[in-house]
Formats: sequence, C-alpha cells, structure tokens
Amino acid sequence: MPTSFHSKVAQHIVELELEKLRKRNPSLGYHQDKDKVSWEMLIDRGAHPRKRVPVPDSESLAQVSQAAHGVDPLFPDELPSSLPRSPVTTPETGLPGHKSPADLPRLPEVGITEPVAIIGAGVAGLRIAMMLKHLGIPYRVMEASERYGGRVFTYHFKKQDGEAESTQNYFDVGAMRFPDNAVNARTFELFEELDIKAGGGTGGKLVPYHLGTDDNIMLFNGRRGPAAFFEWVFNILLFLDIKKTVGEMSKNPLEDHFHDGVRNGGTVPDDYINRTYVKPNGDKLYGIDALLGAAWEPYKFLLAKDYKLGWEILMQHDSRSSRAHLLDIMRYPPEVVQWMETRDSGTNAYDDAFTESIIDSLEFDYPTGYDGQGEPGEVNWWCIEGGTEVLTKAMYKSLGIQPFVQTSQRVTAVYKNKPTTPDEKTTMGVIIQGLAELVPTKYSHVVSTIPLSCLRGVDLSRCELDYAQKTALRSLKYGTGVKVGIKFKTRWWQGQNFKKQGGSSKTDRQSRVVVYPSYGVDGPADTPGVLIATYTWNQDAFRFGSLIDPKDWGNSDDLHSASLDPNRQPSPSEAILLQHIYEDLAEIHGETAGWYREQTLDYYAYDWYHNQYSMGGYAFFNAGQFSDLYLHITKPASDGYLHFGGEAASSHHAWVAGALDSAWRCVWEILAKDGTPEQKKKFRKKYGASKEFDNIETAALQYYRGIYANSLEKADGNHGLFHFPGE
Ligand SMILES: Cc1cc2nc3c(=O)[nH]c(=O)nc-3n(C[C@H](O)[C@H](O)[C@H](O)COP(=O)(O)OP(=O)(O)OC[C@H]3O[C@@H](n4cnc5c(N)ncnc54)[C@H](O)[C@@H]3O)c2cc1C
Repeated sequence: MPTSFHSKVAQHIVELELEKLRKRNPSLGYHQDKDKVSWEMLIDRGAHPRKRVPVPDSESLAQVSQAAHGVDPLFPDELPSSLPRSPVTTPETGLPGHKSPADLPRLPEVGITEPVAIIGAGVAGLRIAMMLKHLGIPYRVMEASERYGGRVFTYHFKKQDGEAESTQNYFDVGAMRFPDNAVNARTFELFEELDIKAGGGTGGKLVPYHLGTDDNIMLFNGRRGPAAFFEWVFNILLFLDIKKTVGEMSKNPLEDHFHDGVRNGGTVPDDYINRTYVKPNGDKLYGIDALLGAAWEPYKFLLAKDYKLGWEILMQHDSRSSRAHLLDIMRYPPEVVQWMETRDSGTNAYDDAFTESIIDSLEFDYPTGYDGQGEPGEVNWWCIEGGTEVLTKAMYKSLGIQPFVQTSQRVTAVYKNKPTTPDEKTTMGVIIQGLAELVPTKYSHVVSTIPLSCLRGVDLSRCELDYAQKTALRSLKYGTGVKVGIKFKTRWWQGQNFKKQGGSSKTDRQSRVVVYPSYGVDGPADTPGVLIATYTWNQDAFRFGSLIDPKDWGNSDDLHSASLDPNRQPSPSEAILLQHIYEDLAEIHGETAGWYREQTLDYYAYDWYHNQYSMGGYAFFNAGQFSDLYLHITKPASDGYLHFGGEAASSHHAWVAGALDSAWRCVWEILAKDGTPEQKKKFRKKYGASKEFDNIETAALQYYRGIYANSLEKADGNHGLFHFPGE
C-alpha cells in the first residue's frame, strides 16, 4: 500500500529527527556536501516508503482486507499486475513486445498429497517440518550428518573421574546468544511456542547473556586496559566518593591509551582519536564508536523507522564494501579505517559488503525507540541453559515420535519428474547417497535448507535452475568462524583476580576474542568450567583454522554432541594452536602460558569453514551481492517445486532468526502454489505475515518470478532474462 501520504509522513518524522541530530552534532557536519553522505541526501534518494505489514494478528488483517477488497493479503488469488513479462516477438509487428500475464499458464489448484522433502535438519529444516506438521502436510527430513541441529551445535565435554555434575560442562560451537529485539522476533516467538523462557519452562530455560561487562579486558598494541586500569581508577574514585563519574569516564577517559595516535607512535591522525557523536536516541559515543556511529547510524535509523525506505536506500549503497564506504563516502583516512576495523571486528571484515555491516550492527545495537515500539533502552540478550541444542531438541520433540526426520541421509541429487500426460501431476525426486530405492518416492515439493556451499555438491541439473540461480549458488560469499573451547580445572576467570562473569575480552593478538560463559556463573570458582578461549572470524579464523583438524560433528548413536577422550594428545598442529592461545591468555589475564596448559583438562577446536556439513560459517555477502544475486535464491526453481531455505536465503545472515524467516517463506511458497484454503487459513493464523517482505505484493512477485522463470525463458529462448515493468 505505498502512498505518497506514507512517504510524506515518513519524511516529516525523519526530518524532525534530523533537526534534533543537527543540533546535537554541529561538529559532524550534516549539511549538503557533495562528498559526504548527509541525512538529506539519504532521504532525497529514498523512493516510495511502504508501511510495514503488521505481523501480529494477520488473521484479522486478512478478514478486513478480504471484506474490503476481496483479496487475501497473504495468498492473493489474482496474478499480480506487475507479474514479470518476457520480451517476445509479437506476430503483429515483428518487434519485441511483452508476453502478457494472461498468456501465462494458470497455477493448477491441487492439494498436497505426496510428502514434502526437506533437505537438512538445522533450524530451518526443523521449523519447516513443524509448520507442515501443524498444517497436516506430510513431510520427510533428510539430514546428511548423524546429528540434527546443524549450526546449532553444543559440545559437551566428558566428565572427569569423580567430577561433580555441573551446569558449565559445555560450550556452544555455533549459535550461542540471542538479542531480544525486533530483528530477532521470530526466534523469540519460537522460544515462546516451545516454552523456553526466563526462569525455566517445559522446553528450557533462558538465562541472561552478558555481551560485555565493565571488567572485560582490552589488549591492543601490547598495552593492556582498560579494565585493570579502571579498577584502580574506580577504587580511587570510590575512596573520594565521586564514583558517578566512572560511568562517563569508562567510555573514553584514557585518550590514546593504546597508543594508536601519531603523537604516541601510531598511525591514526590525532584529531580522530577523541571524536564524539550523539545518536538520535541521545546516547553519546566516543572515539571509534563515534566514527562508526556517524557512518552507520543514518542507515540503521532509517531501517528501524521505515524498513522499506531504509532497505531501498541501503541497496543503493550495496555496491561498496564497508572499507570503501568509510574511505569514499565518510572520507576517513585509511589509517583510521584500519584502526576502526581492528577494534570493531575481524581482520579484513571491512572488505565484506557495507550492507552486511549495517545489518549485523542492527543485531548488536538495534536502535530501539526509533520505530515507535518502545523507548530507547538496553536490549536484553539471552542464552539457553544447557546450550542452544536445547532449542533444536525441543523442535525435534515437538514433531512427535515418528520416523520422518532421518539422519545419515546425504542428498546427492534432486530432480523434477515431468508429467507425461496432461492429467499427470509434476512431482519431485531426491537421491540419497548409498540408498538406491527400487520404487523412488515421489515428493510434492522439495525444500533445500542446506548451506548453498553444500548445495553446490548436489546435482540439480534436472531442476531447471536459471542462469542467475546457478551463479548465486556458486558465488554468494560465506564468512567463517573458529571457536576453541577449553575446559579448565578451575573457573579461574571467576576468581578473586578477575571476577569475570560473562562478557568478552578483546585483543589484536591472534585469539582476538575470549568469551566468558554467561551460564553456570553461580557455581564455585574452584570447580571445572569451560571458556571459549578464542572466537575468531574472517582472516583471523582462516589462519587459526589451518591449524585445526577437520572434524565430524557428531557420530554418536544418541544424537548428542560427540565427546572426545579427555586424555588424548593434541595433534601437532592443534598443539601449536593451543600454545598460541595459552600465550594470548597469559598476555591478557596474567600468569604464564605454562600455567594455562597445566590448568587444561580438555579442549575442542572447531573450524566452520572446513567442515563438510557447512563449508562456511554463515553467509556474509560481498559488495553488490545483496542487490543482485540474493534475489535469485529467494525465488523457487523447477516451476515452483524446489525452494531454497536456510539462513543464507534470508536477509538476516548468521542468525537463527534468518533461518526461521526463510522457513516462513518456503512454507508460504508451497501453500501459495498447492495449499488448500483451510491450510492457508491455519498458516495465516499461526505464523502471521512475512517479516522479510514488508509488502506481500513484492513477495508474490518474487515467487511468481521463480514459478514462471522456466516458461518465460522458454517463451523466447532467453535464458534467465526477463523484465519487470520499468526495469
Ligand atoms: C560460529 C557461529 C556462531 C553463531 N552464532 C549465532 C548466535 O549467537 N545467534 C544466532 O541466532 N545465530 C548464530 N549463528 C547462526 C545460526 O547458527 C545459523 O544461522 C542457523 O543455525 C542456520 O540454520 P540453517 O537451518 O539455515 O542451516 P544449518 O544449521 O547449517 O542446517 C543445514 C543442515 O543441512 C545438513 N546438510 C548439509 N549438506 C547436506 C546434504 N547434502 N544432504 C542432507 N543434509 C545436508 C547439515 O548437516 C545441516 O544439519 C552462528 C553461526 C555460527 C557458525
């Protein structure tokens, strides 16, 4: 429902915010400057903002809409007028024209009788199974590994002889923390559905996750701080009873503490060290945070305020990497950009798409209060006691006892059975490694939820993917991640010297980030505990990853995480890895590398890129890929019978919520093609509207684009090229 009214309202509100921001930040120069991005420029470039379809209560939305317009907003019966058209030669003129939507084949109205094949039993695959079960649609889940859960992977250490039961004998190798904000709404809806809640429910218990605490340590350029220094400052201030200034000081009181500035022998121009920036919600930022705020905040602000407008504008900047944006648009000197990246992210992370940085930043610092849904304030972060596998176990359990989720079934090919007579229905087939079925099972639809990297190894040659889809599968970029969990004899980080209960310390040394557990923190410090001794991304992870032996992620019969023999010797390369980590721990926390080695009971090192079931940590696109290739994996192939799910096929990479968004879309696509009115009604009632497409017409267009890709291509022999009006 785009109207100029919405556009004017949005613009008006944004301008009010702009005015406030200008007053607060005169030094940042939000004025028309052809070289600098300004709020005005951002807004001027905005096209047609559309009101976001409200997610809750879409049932009543449907009733209102159907009564008023005779249209079901989630499942429009009519083909959209903006349906893709293919250039064809018109008989009358012999000149290129357009194939009319009316000429395209109508969708057959058949129910779903054969099961839906779901490839992959991660969050997306299990969620699709739950949704289909609710709708009464048969399904089969095929999982290559011996474990369900995918990138939700909780590693449990074996107990030592005589070791007491502990709530801390594990770590999450994959997903571990969940911010309760607008972008993760689907995750929290799922928690609620499965009764996983704070204080404990039948499905599990959420406990607060501490993203950072005041005593976390930073170690950069060989200089340690500020936590230890602060403790000292804090004690003096406490003594002088002026402690209320500590909070303010803790932001950036140390000037150039890490000696990054030119005057202290670094490379960062001194006038950049102590910049300040005031966010629209009034928070004041200092130093690197201020520079990042000035660069990222306008886009985040718009996304929170008007997702459609914000997204359109973001896409106009999608052709740049974060580094290019900071250099070319913000005009920060290269040394400043390097300094920002070192402190803010993994090494070379700023070479990923600017778009990814903005989306990722929304996770960690969602601008609450801008969207009229709550006051500015802290976002609560949570983790699940017992590890995130509690979630996937609850999902599996909710499916009931049945044989339809099968592990050790690696899908090697998917194909379309073309009807041989007009009455025959199109069905799909799936080939599983080592299982030659005498009478192959016919599936109504196939949904792939496996990482695109793994899908490249599945033969899709009989699925009629278009050119762009094939390119997307090959090219869309995955980031990586490495985590090393070490089980120590004592929870030394909780002891007298450190008092760390959650949060993380950061360094420019190889380990980059140390994560202290947020769970089990009430346990005594002199009993064993598990520390994520390093969590790296990007080039840091590739380098550490080369020292890690490839591992199967689960080969036990009980579908629980595997545990290794605690008495084993590390392989030579993992021994080198551990030595690096011990040295870093010693530099960060004190003691010697030998002390940490002596304290070690067991360890588990995991490299997400060099793993056969993921072949990458998570999608993290290159510049330009969102506005180009991403579109092609969010539309179906095989005339609408093959669907692409999983976190990569969402706009929400590297988060469980992205996998859940994709699950919604895939089930919606199946229903839009073959669902009965009753099933559509049930779906609408329980799962609401899309959280990705703010406008169902856009979603429908994308879906039809996939369905008719084949016919449109065939119509003029034009492989993959067809056009939207106005394109
Ligand atoms: C290091 C790391 C940290 C993360 N941290 C967080 C976090 O804190 N919070 C958060 O919300 N998210 C986090 N995520 C992201 C989150 O884990 C993922 O987005 C989500 O789990 C992906 O689910 P999925 O179903 O899309 O894919 P997956 O979980 O990868 O599931 C795909 C499944 O397909 C299977 N498979 C592969 N090939 C085949 C084949 N040929 N045939 C059959 N099956 C196959 C795989 O074995 C796998 O089980 C993190 C991810 C990583 C890697």
